[in-house]
Amino acid sequence: MSLEEKLAKLKTYLGEVNDLGAAASLLAWDQVTYMPVGGAVARQRQIALLQRLSHEKFIGREVGRLLDDLVPLEQELDPDSLDACLLRVARRDYEHAVKIPPDFLAKLHENAARSYQAWSEARPANDFSKVVEPLELTLELSRRYGEFFPESEHPADPLIDQSDEGMTVALLRPLFRTLRRELVPLVEAICSQESVDNSVLHRYYPENEQLAFGLKIARDFGYDLGRGRQDKSPHPFATNFSIDDVRITTWVDERDVREALFSTLHESGHAMYEQGVSRSLEGTPLASGVSSGVHESQSRLWENLVGRSRGFWEHYYPSLRESFPEQLGGVSVDSFYRAINSVRKSLVRTKADEVTYNLHVILRFELELELLEGKLAIHDLPDAWRDRSYRYLGITPEEDRDGVLQDVHWYSGAIGGAFQGYSLGNILSAQFYEAAINAVPSIPSEIEAGNFTSLYTWLKFNIYRHGRKYPPQDLIKRATSQDLMIEPYLRYLRTKYGKLYSL
Ligand code: ZN
Repeated sequence: MSLEEKLAKLKTYLGEVNDLGAAASLLAWDQVTYMPVGGAVARQRQIALLQRLSHEKFIGREVGRLLDDLVPLEQELDPDSLDACLLRVARRDYEHAVKIPPDFLAKLHENAARSYQAWSEARPANDFSKVVEPLELTLELSRRYGEFFPESEHPADPLIDQSDEGMTVALLRPLFRTLRRELVPLVEAICSQESVDNSVLHRYYPENEQLAFGLKIARDFGYDLGRGRQDKSPHPFATNFSIDDVRITTWVDERDVREALFSTLHESGHAMYEQGVSRSLEGTPLASGVSSGVHESQSRLWENLVGRSRGFWEHYYPSLRESFPEQLGGVSVDSFYRAINSVRKSLVRTKADEVTYNLHVILRFELELELLEGKLAIHDLPDAWRDRSYRYLGITPEEDRDGVLQDVHWYSGAIGGAFQGYSLGNILSAQFYEAAINAVPSIPSEIEAGNFTSLYTWLKFNIYRHGRKYPPQDLIKRATSQDLMIEPYLRYLRTKYGKLYSL
């Protein structure tokens, strides 16, 4: 077989791995949108089977042998060519996957299912003791996971690298420290003022009008509903089965107009990224977003830098008021803008405003590292959470369900690697947005006219279309001519909130 034939064979294999994974994702989508509750047990089994088949096909001898045989071709190819990038990414994924023994992986999955079950009972019961035992095993397994990568400096590094390639604790720690030192006094300065009255957001907003309004904006942004759709699920998310089928979900609270609206803008940001991947990458491991940080930068950019901006509401507020004439009749665009950007010390990450949000993330990130380093024991975790919450956010959860039990992440897989992407996303959202405006200075005035074409086109050209072709750091550099940096984000927060709160 020639090298070209071997490459074609590898692509076929990888396409099948991808399709099995997509079928599992479709079953998972159905599970949280339309499946009757009775279907849970069988569905869990079906998803696990498809994931196992996909994994086995990928780590099987055939893929490894083809990758070995294709080394000479890879060395010959232009490193920026599609095939060279495909081989690099497939090799990276493969080498990563074969380092984890199958029986260890089975134990990890089994414990994830058990701890998720324990968490779903512990959270409503507000009883941390129910999760202690499975969580201790999760911590042990998370540490052992790190041991399969003996070259890494910190036990969290392999878990972080899996979702944010190239990122390490050594890089993240100083970045987050800078962020924290900036944010803690900013939150204090804002919260020492009289709080903004946002009661207008909690009037009665009927579901259908909310859904229609949010989806109209997502469409205006550039989310293609011919290749996507929106449904409802308790925790909003975006998922894709191919470049031409990328779906989002939302959740409606008729007593909080922000819930469905901003989750729709957020998820449509994720979805436009996936829809915007170049069609030449379809069916390959390159056909998806490159890292959790870059993905989150796209959702945050549309949700916050666009969707929570004054210029955006200059254009959209009249039509929101038309949808809700009684609720918003006497409310000016300025009061509405202040209400949706009000900053509060709050306990729950997913409901946090832009200024406090990263402090919630940093709190979790630091606790994870201490757990993995053996400096903190699981049974001391609730106290450590309360203590840090007070120090960073000036507020202490009375109940663990609003503290250590609020997020599913630690109870559904590993400890480590799941939270850094949220803050990286916020930081990057501003870096990308600034670069887009430098390239096309008319973007802000276009947004004021409800026109997103220039922004969408810049993002598609510089980020979306590349999928996983370039590693995250490389992509950031190509798009913005800079390495990842925090200054644009700090500038953005200082300017916006400085004006809002006359600081
Ligand atoms: Zn997101």
